[in-house]
Amino acid sequence: MDDRQFRTAMGKFATGVTVIATDVDGDVHGMTANAFMSVSLDPKLVVISIGEKARILEKIKQSQTFSVNILAADQQELSMIFAGQLKEHREVEFDRLDGKPVLNGAVAQIACDVSAVHLEGDHTLFIGRVTDIHLEDAEPLIFYSGKYRALAEEKAVTV
Ligand code: FAD
Repeated sequence: MDDRQFRTAMGKFATGVTVIATDVDGDVHGMTANAFMSVSLDPKLVVISIGEKARILEKIKQSQTFSVNILAADQQELSMIFAGQLKEHREVEFDRLDGKPVLNGAVAQIACDVSAVHLEGDHTLFIGRVTDIHLEDAEPLIFYSGKYRALAEEKAVTV
């Protein structure tokens, strides 16, 4: 099994797209991530996985807080900005939820305090204790097989 085969297999898992954001001394940094999942209901915990080369890694370790912003279908450009896929720098404004920086228009804004950190291979897993949530009624952006997608309405089946 080579790296490409592993990446291709993992890409077959259709996901939403999030922007993880954190704030160190008023300096907000964001990063696009789809390695996100819910962990526990009581207490309310989520997990994110951050690569060892990502600049946001040390920032989350410093701030001990982060937000997860589940992007809406019309926020593909934000995903590209925070994945470093656009050449020119774009200014992005952040709102605040429980003091954490969050993106306006996201389907869900999830504010977290770091509750545990696990180094696993070349990624670090941050377990986040959820401190607040804000929801919007919008369709999510989807990522599958390396491409951005949108949900399609299932056609009603007539029998
Ligand atoms: P940088 O490369 O420093 O920042 C990324 C970009 O965000 C830069 O262009 C920067 O200018 C911009 N930016 C940051 N803060 C701001 C701000 N305040 N205002 C405006 N622009 C800003 N990597 C993972 O580790 N885990 C994942 O789960 C993951 N999932 C991904 C899912 C998708 C769909 C994609 C496309 C990429 C994913 N990546 C993931 C890769 C990751 O997004 C990139 O490698 C990213 O560039 C690394 O971020 P960094 O912290 O090094 O930030």
